Amino acid sequence: MDTILSGRSTDAPRSTADFLALEALYGASNYKPMDVVLARGEGVWVWDVEGKRYLDCLSAYSAVNQGHCHPKIREALVAQAARLTLTSRAFHNDQLGLFYREICELTRAHKVLPMNSGAEAVESALKVARKWGYEIKGVPEDRAEIIVCSENFHGRTLAIVGFSTDPVSRTHFGPFTPGFRVVPYGDSEAFAQAVRPETVAILVEPIQGEAGVIIPPSGYLRRVREICTQERVLMILDEIQTGLGRTGRLLAEEHEGVEADLTLVGKALSGGFYPVSAVLSNVEALGVLKPGEHGSTFGGNPLACAVARTALRVLVEEGMIENAASMGERLLAGLRSVAGASVAEVRGRGLMLAVELHPDAGGAHARCTTLKGRGVLCKETHVHTIRIAPPLVITAEQVDWAVEQFATVLN
Ligand SMILES: *Cc1c(COP(=O)(O)O)cnc(C)c1O
Repeated sequence: MDTILSGRSTDAPRSTADFLALEALYGASNYKPMDVVLARGEGVWVWDVEGKRYLDCLSAYSAVNQGHCHPKIREALVAQAARLTLTSRAFHNDQLGLFYREICELTRAHKVLPMNSGAEAVESALKVARKWGYEIKGVPEDRAEIIVCSENFHGRTLAIVGFSTDPVSRTHFGPFTPGFRVVPYGDSEAFAQAVRPETVAILVEPIQGEAGVIIPPSGYLRRVREICTQERVLMILDEIQTGLGRTGRLLAEEHEGVEADLTLVGKALSGGFYPVSAVLSNVEALGVLKPGEHGSTFGGNPLACAVARTALRVLVEEGMIENAASMGERLLAGLRSVAGASVAEVRGRGLMLAVELHPDAGGAHARCTTLKGRGVLCKETHVHTIRIAPPLVITAEQVDWAVEQFATVLN
């Protein structure tokens, strides 16, 4: 270790190539990022270390819905950081109750469990669902089963990758946690048929983000809700990516007028400043947790709560949710108008969009590289899909400019 560091640690990296080399030398290679090194962000824009400006069309997978370095969230972060950052849950703090009240009033949830990463919120909901199954539904001990969907993405912990259907996520990480069963996404009858007396929950994304912005058939969530109510199964909606304004509604469940029993939020809950996630509960489910049965050192800390409170407030006060709806329509129409023969489909809801290329059209990665040259940052999902999800503060002018750039790679 000493020999690797000596002589290198004092070099000051400057160019893109320097930073790429540094990461390649020391970092685990579990990501394959684009060759761009970002140093600064403001609103929809980011700048690389060479000073080149880009329109961010990924928004950190929807964690920066409020735009980069939102001044009010930054102010809340700095002020709270100077006052109190962490107490642990051994003691109360003066931000937690306020965070609870504000997020409950906004989402109409009854109870909240604060965590940090999205995967932790998912794991927490799975634990709660199992406990609810044994203590409230009366499922025999160790028999609880949770239904999940094909092509799901819920994070990277062992239990979660265990029920992934993506071989890259699973291979050589076993043995996996039992008690999960996969049904096809978007097929409510397959779900209805899969329900057994031991079924305690279904975990589902309102729109599958990582799978490539897969929008289920209209009525799917409503039917899943009916089946859940009929069969006494908890509906767990993973809104970590779709939630907090991304689809043009505060929560994507609103498009179908349903209410999940447990709703998971994360990512934009902090506007990208800090990992904050939460399990929101509309039923007695969270009530099964008694002192000592679940927790997190950083969960519900005052810094996270202060940041999340402001991140939620600016979403609403600054009209970002309505803007996502109208700018989303404008972007969808614009992209459709410039889509040439290489494009199989342009789809989206709010500012969560995807361009699906024809399989023989040369792939999405090359398109994203060209877009980078034109000042637009996008990341392909799978081989043929370009995902487009700019911050929700994007203006009509910026949408039109983006469409011009997309026009050059889509026809
Ligand atoms: C990003 C994401 C997660 C995982 O969140 P992390 O903070 O990366 O653990 C879970 N579910 C969905 C739908 C996501 O998009």
